Amino acid sequence: MVLIQTVEELRDALFRIKSVGKSIGLVPTMGALHEGHLSLMRQARKENQVTVCSIFVNPTQFNNQEDLEKYPRTLDKDLELVEPYIDFVFAPTAEEVYREPATEKYDFGALEQVMEGPARPGHFNGVGIIVGRLFKWIEPDKAYFGEKDYQQLIIIKNLVKQLNMDIQIVGCPIVREASGLALSSRNQRLSEEERQKAANIYRILKESTLLATPNTEEIKHFVEMEINKIDILRLEYYEISDAETLQPIRNLNEAKMAIGCIAVYAGDVRLIDNIRYK
Ligand code: AMP
Repeated sequence: MVLIQTVEELRDALFRIKSVGKSIGLVPTMGALHEGHLSLMRQARKENQVTVCSIFVNPTQFNNQEDLEKYPRTLDKDLELVEPYIDFVFAPTAEEVYREPATEKYDFGALEQVMEGPARPGHFNGVGIIVGRLFKWIEPDKAYFGEKDYQQLIIIKNLVKQLNMDIQIVGCPIVREASGLALSSRNQRLSEEERQKAANIYRILKESTLLATPNTEEIKHFVEMEINKIDILRLEYYEISDAETLQPIRNLNEAKMAIGCIAVYAGDVRLIDNIRYK
């Protein structure tokens, strides 16, 4: 495994690999790695001759300065964890990534007008900027993203179309703790009590899939009521949408695939999760 910190070194290293026609799989991350990230890397390892992971806490996608400052950074441990799966780790500084100022403006249309879009103004443009730059620098054949950040996965598929690049976006299932809590780097900031209570999020989502109604208002009402019963948890949004267009639906029968996406605060830690209804 080789650690690379500049774009020039990255281009040099990958130039040789591309010139002999080897396939490249990319896993973009912000570090503080856990089994969720590693599941993406295992899949990338299986499907590509060369694997690259990026570790970069991208300031342009944070709309909250405190969240950026508190984001866990554990590079040494991360490098040990990725060793079995990854050939090149790209871990640049912010100065390196933003040598060219971040002037790109992406328009993801209706995909960014819902859920995380209004809740985190500027977030998806920041995601577009960093992922777009990684794609241009690395030109992977495939790139791996978790369904945990479902809206992001759909937006990245749209980004590839906008950039007109030939990159296959692979969505990977959510990895959870035994309690059901979706793994997240932000879980490190939960107290023991918050962590236990946060496990209710997935329990409630699962229960909501068993309700005998296709009416999404009723399902949403159930989720809101149940989350409100748990002190410490504070619901930011729960939306049930068409899983392809991300637009809200009133009835599960309106869409071929339907997904419920949630954002909840546990104390001051913001958590997201989702569940498929069909
Ligand atoms: P992050 O470091 O949080 O930006 O995440 C990097 C990638 O890992 C993203 O594509 C996430 O969706 C994915 N990821 C994060 N947590 C999980 C999880 N629990 N299960 C599956 N993928 C995940």
